[in-house]
Amino acid sequence: MNVSDSELMLGKLTASGYDAVDGPEGADVILVNTCAIRDNAEQRVIGRLGELRRFMGRDTILGVTGCMAQRLGPKLLETDSRVSLVVGPDAYRALPQLIDGARNGERFTATDFDLEEHYEDFQARRFDGVKAWIPVQRGCDYRCTYCIVPYTRGSERSRQLADVVRETEEVVAQGLTEVVLLGQTVNSYNDGTSDFGALLRAVGAVPGIRRVRYTSPHPNDFSDSVIRAMAEVPTVCEHVHLPMQSGSSRTLKRMLRRYSREDYLACVDRLRAAIPGLTITTDIIVGFPGETDDEFEETLSAVREVGFDDAFMFKFSMRDGTPAQRLPAELTVPDAVVDERFERLKDLVRGIARDKNMRRLGERREVLIEKEARKGDGLLQARSRDFKTVIVPGDLSMIGTYLHVELTGTTGSTFTGAPVAERAALPMA
Ligand code: SAH
Ligand code: SF4
Repeated sequence: MNVSDSELMLGKLTASGYDAVDGPEGADVILVNTCAIRDNAEQRVIGRLGELRRFMGRDTILGVTGCMAQRLGPKLLETDSRVSLVVGPDAYRALPQLIDGARNGERFTATDFDLEEHYEDFQARRFDGVKAWIPVQRGCDYRCTYCIVPYTRGSERSRQLADVVRETEEVVAQGLTEVVLLGQTVNSYNDGTSDFGALLRAVGAVPGIRRVRYTSPHPNDFSDSVIRAMAEVPTVCEHVHLPMQSGSSRTLKRMLRRYSREDYLACVDRLRAAIPGLTITTDIIVGFPGETDDEFEETLSAVREVGFDDAFMFKFSMRDGTPAQRLPAELTVPDAVVDERFERLKDLVRGIARDKNMRRLGERREVLIEKEARKGDGLLQARSRDFKTVIVPGDLSMIGTYLHVELTGTTGSTFTGAPVAERAALPMA
């Protein structure tokens, strides 16, 4: 979501006569787009603001945008004298004027929510030449007790389906073939007429689109309509990122996730029954207040039961102003316990992913070549429909094209692939 917001800001500033530079050196304006989801995200921003000082001349404008700007507002101006702009997620429209003001020596905080704001008239300047992030919903109406997002991004609102389709058509015209639809609970999308199932069907049918993904859905919003669309629209990929957070119904209740362990597992079953070859990744929080050894064991057993393909794992971070702050202090899980649980969870997740991936060796996939592999050296990084990273041989001219490969090796998490003739490609196992 932040990358997508940065693309919108860059688009707006480009339209106002600014040009992007590759690094902070020599820039007239430096904007740091921030995340507030965990304390360490914010600490990194503070570190970055410090580092940026040495690139700043007397007239350089330094601004902080995004969720941390929204959360801290004018406090950021007080604590860092070099910062002259603090702009929250709903206030990017004013950026050019705010920057002009800052150049005249003023300092601003712009953090009002605007429930109508979708930046429809902005032309996103995309960083990625292969896939496009397309926000379809802003804000969040859930109130998970650990989460700062409802307070930094405001209430949930959906874009109009026609606007999303129009942006998808523009993306195709720019030569991109994959879109990722974005929202905090993206499958609760509703523009007043159309639900997320209808959106998937409409976007998936745009001529030239070959892959549709979305992130992140909430388990409670997987209506039959959404699952049917996912199963029936050929361009919608066979992967879902389905945040679980915990495998313990008691923990989930304290998190106010509004589903039980059983509900989550039932959602996984419905998805798998409808979509052959579906891979599932997730988010898990370790050490939420009151998480007992037994509750943590339930998370481990749910991880085994589902058999996730991968997981983002987080140590719980207390955020100011979230309902979790009202939980009794004695429920805090000691750091050493959190650390140990985190390591155990990580080992389990990695081990399961490795086993599943080993069993995939010899299978075939269609991959979209995304970029040069980190190792370079005639290697490219590609992605399968089921969200596996596959390293293939080739030259940079192949970026953005599709290739059929056989999975020949795995590190446990990523694959190497050897090109095969397209006609020989089998459907996904
Ligand atoms: N809207 C998405 C999540 C967005 S935040 C959803 O509901 O699925 C991305 C992930 O960060 C969450 O899924 C959660 O696992 C993690 N997260 C959010 N708040 C956190 C906190 N206070 N401490 C640790 N992890 C957190
Ligand atoms: Fe945060 Fe919950 Fe909303 Fe996701 S659904 S953004 S975790 S409040």
